[in-house]
Amino acid sequence: MKTGTQHLYIPGPTNVPEVVRQAMNVPMQDHRAPDFGDLTMGLFRDLKTIFKTTTGRVMMFPGSGTACWEAAILNTLNPGDKVLMARHGQFSHLWVEMAKKLGLDVQVVDLAWGAGVPVNEFTRILGNDRHGQIKAVFVTHNETATGVTSDVALVRRALDECFHDALLFVDGVSSIACIDFRMDEWGVDLAVTGTQKGFMLPAGLGIIGVSQKAMAASEKNTMRRCFLDFADMAKMNDTGYFPYTPPTQLLHGLRKSLDRMLAEGPENTYARHRRLATGVRNAVAAWGLEMCAEHPSLYSDTVTAIRTPQGVDARDVIKIAYDRYNCSLGSGLGPLNGKVFRIGHLGDLNEGMCLTAISIAELSLAAAGAQIRFGSGVAAAQDVYAEPVARAVQRSAAIAAE
Ligand SMILES: *Cc1c(COP(=O)(O)O)cnc(C)c1O
Repeated sequence: MKTGTQHLYIPGPTNVPEVVRQAMNVPMQDHRAPDFGDLTMGLFRDLKTIFKTTTGRVMMFPGSGTACWEAAILNTLNPGDKVLMARHGQFSHLWVEMAKKLGLDVQVVDLAWGAGVPVNEFTRILGNDRHGQIKAVFVTHNETATGVTSDVALVRRALDECFHDALLFVDGVSSIACIDFRMDEWGVDLAVTGTQKGFMLPAGLGIIGVSQKAMAASEKNTMRRCFLDFADMAKMNDTGYFPYTPPTQLLHGLRKSLDRMLAEGPENTYARHRRLATGVRNAVAAWGLEMCAEHPSLYSDTVTAIRTPQGVDARDVIKIAYDRYNCSLGSGLGPLNGKVFRIGHLGDLNEGMCLTAISIAELSLAAAGAQIRFGSGVAAAQDVYAEPVARAVQRSAAIAAE
């Protein structure tokens, strides 16, 4: 029998705050009632604040992030359109596979799993695309499989420098609401996320930011869709409704989680994630283990992917953590299976929770055969968490600039 807390340190689904969980415990309601818009209109407004868009719109489709990957493609592109994508982890890989299945002509830049989006290579390719055959560029802002955050602003700059008109698609499933994201400023046309990561909710809704340019493209494109149609959704959303039954409980949970996000303030939320992540990274350094991310400038503030030492199977680490210590750590996905384990540190989280994850990781690494001095990672993280917030953030900025 297991006793005590079941610890969840995977990069989604994340921990749901108790008040959010309770906010979802409401009776069923009429989603066509005259006052339903009192709930939904505020959600649309506040989602725009989180996405940092005033000119675009944010829609929610029942489903998960994957549904909005698909919605983005189906609503704006045509069969056979050429698109530019990078593959550097399981999520970018899956988006590439989806784009191919949906009939796009995908130009894939294959990279090491641990690399960031190849801005220079993208610039070269876009610069050579004189006839504008590339209709969209896809960026995985935070590659959850490898713990890598790429610079979306640089991709926007590459497009602008090449005077290229392609739509900019961004997967922000594990970044939006936790890591700085600026839909308008970066000229993001389609920004995809879901409820079960930074939004601290159960899975069940895909959330997508759509620019005016993307809406205009959706009026002319020829891919077929029905359930995921932007036009049907936008028309109903304008008056506070949905074209079909939305998960009303989740909407109430979202109301509460948005209240919490706005109360903390997005910039403070980013700083908190930076600080918590810096502690986890310090622990990894103290253990003498390698990050999966190739360079400190790529380190993600929402998930850390750690390579196990030679001869230590990451699957054992994860299994021991789960069986003996009631703790879920993230697994190595695809080719990283057995080589990497991940600590998800996003959403409703604090220092004590990160120290628990680090401490259990130490126990599990040691039991799986790694040379770990107990407390070394915990102490290294405590060094960060003992510092005033501003200094810890400053230090991690200095590390990133190295
Ligand atoms: C979790 C995740 C997805 C998939 O989202 P689902 O909600 O599971 O469909 C896609 N991209 C990234 C970067 C993710 O972290």
